[in-house]
Amino acid sequence: MSPQPAREEIRIGISSCLLGHKVRYDGGHKKDPLITGALSSFLTFVPVCPEVEVGMSVPRPPIRLVRRGAEIRLVDPKRGLDHSESMRRWSEVRIRDLEKLDLSGYILKKDSPSCGMEGVKVYSENGAGIREGVGLFARELLRRFPLLPVEEEGRLNDPALRENFVERVFAYRRLRALFSARWALGDLVRFHAAEKLLLLAHEPRSVRSLGRLLGLAKKLPRWELESSYGEMYMKALRVLATKGKNSKVLFHMARYFKDRLGPVEKKELVQTISAYRRGLLPLVVPMTLLRHYLRTLGSPHLEGQAYLDPHPKELLLRNHA
Ligand code: SF4
Repeated sequence: MSPQPAREEIRIGISSCLLGHKVRYDGGHKKDPLITGALSSFLTFVPVCPEVEVGMSVPRPPIRLVRRGAEIRLVDPKRGLDHSESMRRWSEVRIRDLEKLDLSGYILKKDSPSCGMEGVKVYSENGAGIREGVGLFARELLRRFPLLPVEEEGRLNDPALRENFVERVFAYRRLRALFSARWALGDLVRFHAAEKLLLLAHEPRSVRSLGRLLGLAKKLPRWELESSYGEMYMKALRVLATKGKNSKVLFHMARYFKDRLGPVEKKELVQTISAYRRGLLPLVVPMTLLRHYLRTLGSPHLEGQAYLDPHPKELLLRNHA
């Protein structure tokens, strides 16, 4: 099975206030227990507070996104200041520095006019806010790192979204490990083979489309192949894995053992997968059983599949029914 990279290699950018830094406009923080607890054992956080780093004080008057014609500006309405240009210039420089850190993901503070990823309130000059904006720093971040797994802290409280984010972080890491070294077509073909079950659990059609891309590989310039594969792969993993898709993958894996199991073991395996599909058991249960058969009976088809170990098991991400 593929080993997980060491802890210090997984760097995640994060809005500083989520780590408990007192950088918010009111002098407070928004420490998130999930992030500072379980996730911090496996991820190294790189805190960034755009508002403080751009030079704003703590505390400070709250700022907001305001629509002015076709433009959305970052404004301090109390003092009549417009921070849009300074924030844009600072974001560009800061993101260039972040590029050197080889981040594997980013966690943003929701609703913030600087950090919010989506649905940030945009105010008209006189009217109420409409949740249609993206924080100014977040917008630049998403533009510069289009494949990077990015999530807001609120959404990470949903077990399915949390698992999806962490899975993408580790997948992005594997993708970067492949493409940051000198790679040959054979390396990409092996990578694709090892990711097949994981892709099937997220977006089954992607296995075929990525396979077709590999079929054209010899005709494509290397940079185009890398960029198209990376884009399609990360996009496929953004689709949530469901009980239905996971069950198909589990039954697919079970087929590799069926002729070598006795009737009792076979029945137990089928019942365990079915109970998972009906929401009676968490995914970790059939996975543990299948891993046991892989260990004791072996299967060259399943050996090395990323699906077996997509993230550290200590995070218990597959333990919810
Ligand atoms: Fe700073 Fe972003 Fe937190 Fe606001 S949301 S305090 S800008 S880190």
